[in-house]
Amino acid sequence: MARRTLIQKLEILADAAKYDASCASSGSKKRNSVGTKGIGSTEGMGICHSYAPDGRCISLLKILLTNFCIFDCRYCINRSSSNVQRERFSVDEVVKLTLDFYKRNYIEGLFLSSGIIRSPNYTMEQLLEVARSLREDHGFRGYIHLKTIAEADPELIRLAGIHADRLSVNVELPSEQGLTHYAPEKSGQTIRKAMADIRYEIDNVKDAQTSRILKRAKPPAFAPGGQSTQMIVGADMSSDADILHSSARLYAGYGLKRVYYSAYSPVPDASADLPPIRPPLIREHRLYQADWMFRFYGFTTAEITSVADNGMLDLDIDPKLSWALRNRGLFPMDINRASYQELLRIPGLGPTSAKRIVAARRHTRLTLDDLGRIVRSLKTVRPFITASGWSPGKLTDTLDLKQRFLPAPKQLDLFA
Ligand code: SF4
Repeated sequence: MARRTLIQKLEILADAAKYDASCASSGSKKRNSVGTKGIGSTEGMGICHSYAPDGRCISLLKILLTNFCIFDCRYCINRSSSNVQRERFSVDEVVKLTLDFYKRNYIEGLFLSSGIIRSPNYTMEQLLEVARSLREDHGFRGYIHLKTIAEADPELIRLAGIHADRLSVNVELPSEQGLTHYAPEKSGQTIRKAMADIRYEIDNVKDAQTSRILKRAKPPAFAPGGQSTQMIVGADMSSDADILHSSARLYAGYGLKRVYYSAYSPVPDASADLPPIRPPLIREHRLYQADWMFRFYGFTTAEITSVADNGMLDLDIDPKLSWALRNRGLFPMDINRASYQELLRIPGLGPTSAKRIVAARRHTRLTLDDLGRIVRSLKTVRPFITASGWSPGKLTDTLDLKQRFLPAPKQLDLFA
């Protein structure tokens, strides 16, 4: 068979990378190229667009080094028993593609993952070499997110963190049983150990930075954008409650920046115990909303999942509204007296609007009109608050309140 061109390889290995959701580059510090031999700077086909929490859209070259793999994870299109065409980049090819795309301003960085070639150590060495070469041989100052191979030597992962802005280790499935069943070559213990090692290095550098500030010496960086992971949703029987409890443990235990939820995509020739269709995308969305509730809104996972039926979040409305509807005894809340933390529990209010309310009411008692100038829409907020001159009366306890928030039913089109 004729050798494929670089572009043909790119088509295959960019397509193979699309199943990995964890490529947002939030939390990275800018690498300043001024005064260095660097060729640019960023905070930060195969070009993926990721959104940072501040809303910035960044573009990354998102590829696999290879879609060949000696492991046989049953949910994965690239598993060893899968009948897909295989391809592999050399280290130099990935370096060249990244630099070419970067210089043309197509991308702000690289997201690089890989199937496992020969052994976890060999694969990690190759990934590491790409990052090292970009940084040291070419002065690349763009963003690098490396997917780490949990089974590799911890020293290789440590070296990767020196060059990469972010490292991630995929936890894959929410439960240990799911992992054992669907990915027998992987071990939850090994994955957690890799995460713990990365956290240890990140914390070490932070401590060193604090203690050396006074001496004005610069400690070496280690994954300044932190670490993240990806969890596949809907491949096994884990409920939303299982997923959220698992995420909360990961955030607390390993200081993760993000857990990415990726709806399972059915793969060709899949085993019979995998679902034939992907779960609704709205499930992934509801999990992200719940994730924000316990990270930024002060809810516990127990509170969020207390309103889940059989452990599953309501797909019709967002989980915060769902919680408020099931806890109506706490509402309406007076927006002129509620604490910041209490304001965050009101549907339709987020950290930005809660802060603006707290600031504005220092000067005046807020009316509904005042609130209308702070929030995007009063429709969700109105039944759950009182304000100067506004009380929802019986609206808060209306039996059909949930119905008012549902999207209008849409009739299917006629077939021609
Ligand atoms: S190790 Fe990664 S690439 Fe290989 S089969 Fe498992 S999930 Fe797929």
